Amino acid sequence: MKIALTGNPNSGKTTLFNLYTGSNQYVGNWAGVTVEKKEGSVKYKGESITLVDLPGIYSLSPYSMEEIVTRRVLIEERPDVLIDILDGTNIERNLYLALQLMELGVPMILAVNMMDEVRQKGDRLDCAELSRQLGVQVIPITAKKGENTKELLEAAAALARNPARDPSRSVGKVAYDRATEQAILDVYVILWEIPGLRGLPLGFYAAKLLEGDKKAGEALNLDKETAGRIERVVAAYEASSPYGDRETMLADARYKSITAMVEKAMVKAGAEGGLSLSDKIDLVITNRILALPIFLLIMFFMFALTFGPVGSFLSGGIDFILGDMLTRWVTGLLSSAAAPGWTHGLLVDAIIGGVGGVLTFLPQILILFTCLSVLEDSGYMARAAFIMDRLLHKIGLTGKSFIPMLMGFGCTTPAVMAARTMENDRDRKMTIMITPFMSCGAKLPVYALFASIFFTEHEGAAVFSMYIIGMVTAVVSGLFLRGTLFRGTVAPFVMELPPYRLPSPGALLRHVWEKAKGFLIKAGTIIFSMSVLTWLLQNLDWSLQLVLDNRDSIFASVGRGLAPIFAPLGFGNWQAAVSILAGLIAKETVVSSMLVLYGAGSGEALASALAAAFDPVSAFSFMVFCLLYMPCISAFVSIKREMNSWRWAILTAAFTTAVAYIISLVVYQGGRLIFG
Ligand code: GDP
Ligand code: MG
Repeated sequence: MKIALTGNPNSGKTTLFNLYTGSNQYVGNWAGVTVEKKEGSVKYKGESITLVDLPGIYSLSPYSMEEIVTRRVLIEERPDVLIDILDGTNIERNLYLALQLMELGVPMILAVNMMDEVRQKGDRLDCAELSRQLGVQVIPITAKKGENTKELLEAAAALARNPARDPSRSVGKVAYDRATEQAILDVYVILWEIPGLRGLPLGFYAAKLLEGDKKAGEALNLDKETAGRIERVVAAYEASSPYGDRETMLADARYKSITAMVEKAMVKAGAEGGLSLSDKIDLVITNRILALPIFLLIMFFMFALTFGPVGSFLSGGIDFILGDMLTRWVTGLLSSAAAPGWTHGLLVDAIIGGVGGVLTFLPQILILFTCLSVLEDSGYMARAAFIMDRLLHKIGLTGKSFIPMLMGFGCTTPAVMAARTMENDRDRKMTIMITPFMSCGAKLPVYALFASIFFTEHEGAAVFSMYIIGMVTAVVSGLFLRGTLFRGTVAPFVMELPPYRLPSPGALLRHVWEKAKGFLIKAGTIIFSMSVLTWLLQNLDWSLQLVLDNRDSIFASVGRGLAPIFAPLGFGNWQAAVSILAGLIAKETVVSSMLVLYGAGSGEALASALAAAFDPVSAFSFMVFCLLYMPCISAFVSIKREMNSWRWAILTAAFTTAVAYIISLVVYQGGRLIFG
């Protein structure tokens, strides 16, 4: 049994999907988070039900990627039941999609979500009345709290067990005005007479053809004569109204019947009672003058918290347990067992030093992620994109780029995928090319390590500056790309601002736990094997003999070959060069490699080893380079997939690395001039 979830963006589909399937798909209080369909399964009375979470859409017209994906799934895969999720606080707009979905003839249930907010506003919804008018079941739910969701699933399963209806017999059950009804029926009859089309949702196609939807016409492959007959119906329809435009007329007909329905089914509390709380908050937060300072202040506060007393204390705790206690214990064990010297190197230097060293950054990563999740879930991130759009539209960039870019603070891979929501191919490619400049979570350990040694007094500020440099670089290179590779006009950007919401602690915990789990798995796999590999390459020579001095090792000779390239940037030592190389696997391995290479065991020894190899200016230049150079392998692969071309992926890697080189060069040479 297959049940699909559809609805407008931000109506709570993914929340419901996660609730039913126990999975942890990304929930964010903004549009455009789910761009692919996701499947999961839920056990219900011993039966396994497949649930499909679809990207949010406003209409079934094939104008955007999400609409096309959803339409294809619904028409071609024909789920047994469709649950259309409406945002109860915005019911008219949500019903616009519902009316079109009903024409598909798939058995359907309407779930009116966010009932907690509806009640809070003082609105009253009569679901029985709405159901009577629409001719489908209407069930009120609060997905976030699991209220009534069991009943919803039960109803959906019961509906799916009913024998399937013949979709070709369904015409929308909602009555439009006479002219529209007549025109849809006329087209429907024309289609009905064609034998090859039986079994298709003809009610849906009739309305779409009337609307002038080209994809629908292509899909049916109509002959010239039929197309001509339909055009005559359309001409008569258009002549019947002063609007004279089929698309507008149909939209108007839909909205009119929705308004009439909602008037009967919903009692709204004091609609003219002034501004809502969300609007009042927005007066300040998106204020023309205050918006940007507030944005920067929030970001700064986030880093102050991450690198402040709490974060440092927790990191220090992990460092003490892993770095001191475990090291001492293992060292003692090895010497009492008279184990050979290299076992100490492998276990203590490589594994505890490399993997454990990266793990000490876990608390800080989690604090940062908690902050980011709160910002997203509360609805602030959507405002951030809105503010950025207002600033940058003037200079020729679209604000739609900012949704992927802000997601890039987490991880580049999903951020690059989020660019799919951009209809304009040029804008999409440009966004993918600049998203890697945003500072992802994996780069944090690099800054945290260097900032804690070279910028002890201003750790938070040093890390904060990386995020700012990343954003500014992204914007400036976006401008550069627009002026060169991607000339053209900027697509207009309409962003819907979701209402502010209190982030739910449960979702927050799940989100952060996912992140922690991902990080621990990465530590146990990639970082672990890279640490061992680094240790081996640093202790073996080309004939695979253990070396006495690691300056004779494979890594040292490779690193020495590369080092001159980085000398102008201030870090021409072989350890830095091979760490950068290792960072291509995952950005955390820049740090784990350094920890292994400097084989320093304790925090103080590492600090003095690094202090011998870097000064504050070259350390800063190194941080900038790690921020900007080509993304890790998994992000690279997703870039290739999204651009559908190796050439573009390689160009992106080359472009980001070149930008990294130039900016680090400027930072180092400039810094030397200023600070001597
Ligand atoms: P999607 O875009 O339809 O997948 O929507 P999401 O599941 O990502 O949810 C969008 C936002 O609505 C998130 O901030 C959710 O926490 C919030 N949300 C979901 N369901 C409810 C609900 O029943 N009540 C309230 N107040 N918020 C909800
Ligand atoms: Mg979603």
